[in-house]
Amino acid sequence: MSGESSVPHQAGRQRSHWAWGYDDELPAEGELRSIASLMSGLLGFDLPSWIELPVSLNQVALPEPGVRPPGALAAICSTSTADRARHAHGQSYEDLVTAFRGRFDAVPDVVAYPAGDADVSALIDWCQSSALALIPYGGGTSVSGGVTPLVGGGYAGVVSVDLSRMNRVLEVDGISGAALIEAGATGPEINRQLAGFGWTLRHFPQSWEFSTLGGWIATRAGGHYATGPTRIDDFVESIRAITPRGPWESRRLPGSGAGISPDRLLLGSEGTLGVITRAWIRVQRPPAFRASVTVRLPSFAAGADAVRAIVSSGLRPAACRLLDPTEARLTAGGDGGAALLVLGFESADHPVRVSLDAALELARAAGGRWGEIRVQEPAEPAAARAAAASGPGDRPPGGAGPGPDASGAQWRSAFLRMPYLRNAYPALGLIAETLETAVTWDRFPALHGAVVGATSEAAASICGAAVVTTRLAFAYPDGVAPYYTVLAPGRPGEEAAQWAVIKRAASEAILAAGGTITHHHAVGRVHRPWYDEQRPEPFALALRGAKAALDPRGVLNPGVLVGRDAQVDPPQ
Ligand SMILES: Cc1cc2nc3c(=O)[nH]c(=O)nc-3n(C[C@H](O)[C@H](O)[C@H](O)COP(=O)(O)OP(=O)(O)OC[C@H]3O[C@@H](n4cnc5c(N)ncnc54)[C@H](O)[C@@H]3O)c2cc1C
Repeated sequence: MSGESSVPHQAGRQRSHWAWGYDDELPAEGELRSIASLMSGLLGFDLPSWIELPVSLNQVALPEPGVRPPGALAAICSTSTADRARHAHGQSYEDLVTAFRGRFDAVPDVVAYPAGDADVSALIDWCQSSALALIPYGGGTSVSGGVTPLVGGGYAGVVSVDLSRMNRVLEVDGISGAALIEAGATGPEINRQLAGFGWTLRHFPQSWEFSTLGGWIATRAGGHYATGPTRIDDFVESIRAITPRGPWESRRLPGSGAGISPDRLLLGSEGTLGVITRAWIRVQRPPAFRASVTVRLPSFAAGADAVRAIVSSGLRPAACRLLDPTEARLTAGGDGGAALLVLGFESADHPVRVSLDAALELARAAGGRWGEIRVQEPAEPAAARAAAASGPGDRPPGGAGPGPDASGAQWRSAFLRMPYLRNAYPALGLIAETLETAVTWDRFPALHGAVVGATSEAAASICGAAVVTTRLAFAYPDGVAPYYTVLAPGRPGEEAAQWAVIKRAASEAILAAGGTITHHHAVGRVHRPWYDEQRPEPFALALRGAKAALDPRGVLNPGVLVGRDAQVDPPQ
């Protein structure tokens, strides 16, 4: 394959070399103009009157690869400009705006597409013997620099190992309710295949369309579900990874008290300890019963009170997302005068209206008011589930954009389409990026005030104006994970540097207020300085020990979580 183009996710369609999604879905100039005028009206600050267009792939010039794959691996490797450019970055705003301008300061020398464990082992052996860095690549949706080939000195080159050919559901255990799935399978690929067996995986990160099972495990992704099971950790039964020391495979167990869990060490390992190649995952029956409603609350603080009351009551809503009044106006058709709470319950086998009613009583006590309640209670749930299973899978159903009365399903569908809107921002000169954290309820008000204050101040000083909005994305009985969106006018060519100033101010405020540097976006290269500050030092020592034992030459994703310090030897 060397020098040819890559394996696309959908036959005949190519992923964009800079943006979210496929080339054929990028907004045309006319659409960009409409979005610009809409956004200017909504944001209250002016955007440039011109529209900038992306540097096309055939104008991108990359340095010659510093290394070529050995003959035995040539058939699964590519050195084409398209593949190398696409694998040079993730999907953060900084990644988008830099690649949009055709700037690729660090690119992998080779992109490899293994078809199975033997290929992965051979790639690791090559990297170890030739002093190459190996970066596992799932869907490339990292927003924290996890797949960016900035590996530091001491390496003869970088190989990006793209798992997209390993995308099959290999086995379904219908008795236990679990499936063996290859690590490169994306959300739609998993649910399409599981549907044939009458099962589904209800794990919906917003990046679901392109992110992969291996990426979710490696980053401990958070799904769309507001309360458990939320994190991919909740679904993992066992994991298989290929490490430089050989295969690592845990036993399939529903639970085990046998010492420290081997899966726990791989969950969140971010490509630094091994390449995850497959996992047994707990699956569910598609839901047949649903009840949902959008609740108006007089303020964000009142909404947060309602969320806390609901999640600490023992109720387990599938959706419990609070949008502050500005976010509700920008993304959900709100009028800007109220916070909106999208509340929904789902079940495969029993009606959920009674749970929704109980949650609504708690919301009412916080000042909540609502309109139409949507209820789905099929007379024959087994038939409804069979229809869902034989259809396109448990894909979030289509629907119009979310209005204040949108159902949970409509809102979810629009939520999963939101990443496409981000493709417009570099062309419009708009800095648009998100930040997230988690904190216990007792410290939430202080953290929220500090983060909004520091972020708004930094954004106003470096950009002249800014809008900062908040969404409560995940909620726990003992705390919450707020998600902030920053929108500000950028100076052409300086947006990434402007964003770095805002990000630093926000990150410092988060740590000072007792939050985590990331709730679900992973550490990657971007969060590393704050992660080092956050973790206990004896734990850092243990992690370095594990890294040195499993990856003695330091080839796996250097600079992420551990390394780029004296503790891990550079390659010999
Ligand atoms: C628009 C948008 C929305 C997002 N929404 C969410 C969200 O709702 N919830 C959430 O949790 N995250 C979200 N993210 C972040 C991102 O999608 C997650 O971190 C996701 O889990 C990454 O999966 P991936 O397959 O794309 O991994 P990649 O981006 O390819 O890789 C991420 C990290 O995992 C490592 N890795 C990937 N595959 C493997 C493997 N097989 N073995 C070992 N290491 C591996 C990589 O080396 C890298 O360090 C979002 C990102 C975007 C751009």
